[in-house]
Amino acid sequence: MSIKIIETDWKWNTPLSNRKKTDYIALHHAAATSASASDVDRWHKQNGWSGIGYHFYVRKDGSIYCGRPIGALGAHVSGKNDVSIGICAEGDYSFEHMPTVQKRAIAELLDYLKSNYYPRAEIVGHREIGSSDCPGKNYPLAELKNYKNILKGDDIMSREYDELKAEIDALKKAQRIYHYWAELPDWALPTIRKLYDKGIFKGESDADLNLPDVLMRTMVINDRAGLYD
Ligand SMILES: [Zn+2]
Repeated sequence: MSIKIIETDWKWNTPLSNRKKTDYIALHHAAATSASASDVDRWHKQNGWSGIGYHFYVRKDGSIYCGRPIGALGAHVSGKNDVSIGICAEGDYSFEHMPTVQKRAIAELLDYLKSNYYPRAEIVGHREIGSSDCPGKNYPLAELKNYKNILKGDDIMSREYDELKAEIDALKKAQRIYHYWAELPDWALPTIRKLYDKGIFKGESDADLNLPDVLMRTMVINDRAGLYD
């Protein structure tokens, strides 16, 4: 799976150092309903930090921004920065609910990090390794710990959707509409003529016929069963 990570040329106020270990992938929320990665960078600089403290920032539209370089020491979990990498989600999940597209993007990012960098790192919420309410009670923490199910679920959904769409397209194609009397097959003509004469089937002019194939067949069957006599 390839994911798109938006690189930003951050200007660090002080040089970053490297992290030696990565025991945890810590999940955070911004505790702000709307904030860009640059906003977070500005806020963290106001804290006196070098710059944005997270390694990744995921917006509500699912776009993933690079924060600190992946191997750098972050500033996101007091006391555990030297053993963790941080992913922050835009939003305040103490009361908001996460959009599906954002949740999927975080799942993809987790899959990317676990597959390519930190297969043994444990996915945790900030509050589980630090004293904080972050990432908020509505953050889908349990779901994202099982991120593979999110990705698998989406695959099944999109496959079923594609199959269903193909079926509907085939049905639409098969569903012929008769617009003109001259188009009607011989075997249907007596029935349609009978209904037209009785005023049950209203087609005032040739152009108004607009008779779907399925309806026409049903009418013929009904007629042969004597229902229109
Ligand atoms: Zn946090």
